Order: sequence, then C-alpha cells, then structure tokens
Amino acid sequence: MSVFEIEGVKAAPGERAFGYIETSRTASQIPIHIPFNIINGAHDGPTLLVSAAIHGAEIIGTLGLGKVLRDLDESELRGTLIAAPVGNTSAFEFGTRTTYWDGQNMNRAWNMADPEGSPTAQLQHAYITKLVGNADAHIDIHSGSPDSYVWYTIYESSRGTPETIERSKHMAIAFGLEQIFRTTPVRWHGDQEDDDPESVIPTIVPEIGGGADFLKDGKRQMEVCAEGIKNVMRLMGMLDGEITHESDKIQIVDAHDEEIWAGKDHAGIMIKDCERGDFLKKGEPYASVYHPFTGEKMAEISAPSTGIVLNTGVVWPVVPQGRWLGVLGDVVEEVSLDTIDLKW
Ligand SMILES: [Zn+2]
Repeated sequence: MSVFEIEGVKAAPGERAFGYIETSRTASQIPIHIPFNIINGAHDGPTLLVSAAIHGAEIIGTLGLGKVLRDLDESELRGTLIAAPVGNTSAFEFGTRTTYWDGQNMNRAWNMADPEGSPTAQLQHAYITKLVGNADAHIDIHSGSPDSYVWYTIYESSRGTPETIERSKHMAIAFGLEQIFRTTPVRWHGDQEDDDPESVIPTIVPEIGGGADFLKDGKRQMEVCAEGIKNVMRLMGMLDGEITHESDKIQIVDAHDEEIWAGKDHAGIMIKDCERGDFLKKGEPYASVYHPFTGEKMAEISAPSTGIVLNTGVVWPVVPQGRWLGVLGDVVEEVSLDTIDLKW
C-alpha cells in the first residue's frame, strides 16, 4: 500500500483527497482546471478512472459519480478510484458540448492533444497523461443533452490488445445496461485508433439518460449510473457485492455507420413512428414530420438501412434541418447472464 499522488495531490491508504490539474489559462488568465478526487482504498487493488461531463451538457455521470463519492467507504475499498466528475468545466458551466474558450470538442480528434496547443488540446493532453495515464481501466460517462436521450454502453472494440478488448467488453456487461454497442458511428477516441495497442487500457463509455426524460426519472438515472460504476468496481475486485443488471439478457449491437438525420424537407414537428427495438427495413418509416402551423403531414423520414431501432435519439419533437435524429443497428450477440462468466 502506498500514497497515491497526482499533480501534488496526495491520498494515503484509506484516505481521500481533492484537487485540480491546471491545464492552461484563458487570455484573461482564468485557470482552466480539471477537478479530481482520489479515493485511495485501505487495501491493495487496481486503479479505476471515472470521468464525466467531457461534453458539458451531459451531466448524468456527474450526478452518478457524486453519489458514488458519497457512498464509498475508503476503509473497505481495494485499490484506488480517480473520480473526475466535470472533465470540461467551461462546457459544464455554459451547458455546451464544446469548450467555451475555443469552441472545440474535447471528445473528438484526441490526437490533437498538445501541451502547447489550444485550451482544448491542452485539456486533452492533461487528461490523457495525468488521469488516463495513472489508471488501469477507464469509464468515461456521457448522456443525452437536454433534447436527446441515450441508454446503452459502448466498449472500445477497435483499440488495444485482444485481452484489453475482452476486458472492456466484460466491463460493459458488468455496468448493467441491457444494450451494448460494440461499434458506434461516433468513435470515442476518434482518429486515435492507430495507437500502440499495448498502451490502451480497458475502456467503456456508458451513454446514460438525459434529455426530456430527466423530468420524469432523473433520480433513477443517477442511481442506475452510480450502481453501474459500483458494478464495474465489483467486477475489478475493488468492492464486495453482487453485480446487478436491468435485464437477464444483454444485446451486443453494431450500430450502423449511416445515421438518421433531418434532411432538407424534414424541419418541423417530428413524431417517431417506431419504438426502441423495432425492426425496420430500409425505406420503412422512422418518423413523420408535421407542419407546426397547420398540423398537416409534410414528410416521412425513412430508415436509411435495415436494422433495429437502437435506444438513442432525439426526443424533443421540434427539429431543424440537419439535426441528428437516431441510429439503427444489428444485434450481433445475445449474452445471457446465467451462462457468462464475467472476468477481470
Ligand atoms: Zn457525449
């Protein structure tokens, strides 16, 4: 057992500490920070990094991680949790996807990370070297923005060694949501896929809740998120207790590259004609668009490919041209929790 330290912030075994990584400064000398907590368990074990709000409007992970921080007892913990509940503070402050200071998206094009670059490039560099670089595994939590809803876990299936990818898959299953994306059109690490596979740690990206649904079940979203983090900690041997799931059967899905977008004739009021899990053939209706002033049906948005409707998409019906709407996909594997032997 030893003292765990990041950037001069130290936690002895069985203790916790809070601090900041200063990544850069704005033109008016406001420090750009990544706030983080170290919860150093009293007992030996692995180090897990959990981050959230890299996209600042996606705050369900911030809420879930806050609950985990309240619930954890460091005297019982094996290993260390590094918790960074607000990965991009200006995006969080202003409720945006992008860093307010430069308008860049911290969660795309990770290879632009640069200690001498833009504020976002410096944020990425500090995040990768000081947080990810100190961990054995990583959960980066995203969620819907105020008008969209998501409920699935992505695992990194195209980066790392085969053993790392298998570990990522087991983390995704352990997190506990029914649907897992093996591939997604929006890859988490963007064009960083040609990294040295040995340098990649097991990683999952839960996309959990948000959107208009927060009004109805926000507290549940927070609790499921917190339980998912604890489930992965149980998988990794950091916590005692049973791994819990929302369903006995878990679907592993390849999301289609061709997503559903509102085209030139699709601005207006959108009402979906299908439900999560429905099977659509290419060309079948996905949604109808109505005129907001006359109520008349103006257009149909059809499935761009044949597949099932995944648990992701826009929920607020006022839709402009060029808005991303949803994703279809193929179920490539069904995992029964009675038969799978979850391993770390
Ligand atoms: Zn996101």
